[in-house]
Amino acid sequence: MMLNDSVAIVTGSGQGIGRAIALELAAAGVQVVVNDVNSDKAEETVELIRAAGGEGLAVQADVTKAADVDRLIKTALDQFGKINILINNAGITRDSLLLRMKEADWDAVLAINLKGVFLCTKAVSKGMLKQRSGVIVNISSVVGLSGNAGQANYAASKAGIIGFSKSIAKEFASRGIRVNAIAPGYISTDMTETLGEGLQTEVLRAIPLGRLGKPEDIAQVVRFLVSPAASYITGQTLCVDGGMEI
Ligand code: NAD
Repeated sequence: MMLNDSVAIVTGSGQGIGRAIALELAAAGVQVVVNDVNSDKAEETVELIRAAGGEGLAVQADVTKAADVDRLIKTALDQFGKINILINNAGITRDSLLLRMKEADWDAVLAINLKGVFLCTKAVSKGMLKQRSGVIVNISSVVGLSGNAGQANYAASKAGIIGFSKSIAKEFASRGIRVNAIAPGYISTDMTETLGEGLQTEVLRAIPLGRLGKPEDIAQVVRFLVSPAASYITGQTLCVDGGMEI
C-alpha cells in the first residue's frame, strides 16, 4: 500500500504514537509534516524519517493556538503545495478524580485534545474541499467509549473527538473527504509509563490478546485508513486495543 505523491500533517509527532505514524507514512512514500509543540522532538522525528530514506519537515506549533495552526498549514502548503492527509494525534492527560480535578486541568486537556482537532481540521479542510479529496484520522481512545475513573476530562475530550469525527464525515463525504477515528487501548509510550507495576498487571488482565500495544500497532492502522484500501470507510471509530473494548 504505497501512498506516493501524498502529503500528510501529523500533529504531536515528536514522540510516541505520532512519531510511529509519521515514520509509517513516510515509509509508504508520503511527504510528512512533523508537527509538535516541542521543536527538538519534531526535528528528531524528521531525522529518523530521513535516515530511513523518507521525506519530512518539522514545524513547531501549538495546536491550541489558531495562529500557530494557520502557520503550520501555510508552511506545509508552501513546502509541498497540497495537503492530502491530516492525522490529529496531539494529546495529553491530566488525571485526577473529579472532586480533585482543577479547572486548569479540565481546560488544558479539552484545549489540546479537542479544540486542537477542531482548529487543525478546519484549517486543513479549506484546501481539501477545493481539491475534492482528503483523509482525516483523529486519535481518540477506548476511554472515550468506556469512560475511566480519574480521567473525566480525558474521556470527555476523546468522546468529543468521536462525535466531531462523525459530524465532519457527514459534512465532507460528498466532497470526497473521509474522516475516521481510531480508539487505541493501552499503548506503551511516555503517556502510559507512569502507571505502577501493580496497575500494569491489572491492565494486562483486561486485554484479551495478552499484551500492551505498541505505537506501531496504531501506525499500521492509520496507514490502512488513509490508503485507497479504506476508500469506502468513513465516520467510523476503530478500536485498536487487543480486544480491551469487547
Ligand atoms: P505522548 O505524550 O508520548 O506524545 C504526545 C505528543 O504530543 C508529544 O510529543 C507532545 O509534545 C505533543 N503535544 C502535546 N501538546 C501539544 C500541542 N499543544 N501541540 C502540538 N503537540 C503537542 O503521547 P502518546 O501516548 O504518543 O499519545 C498520542 C495520542 O494517542 C494522544 O492523543 C493520546 O491521547 C492518544 N492515546 C494514547 C494511548 C496510550 O496508551 N498511549 C491510548 C489511547 C489514546
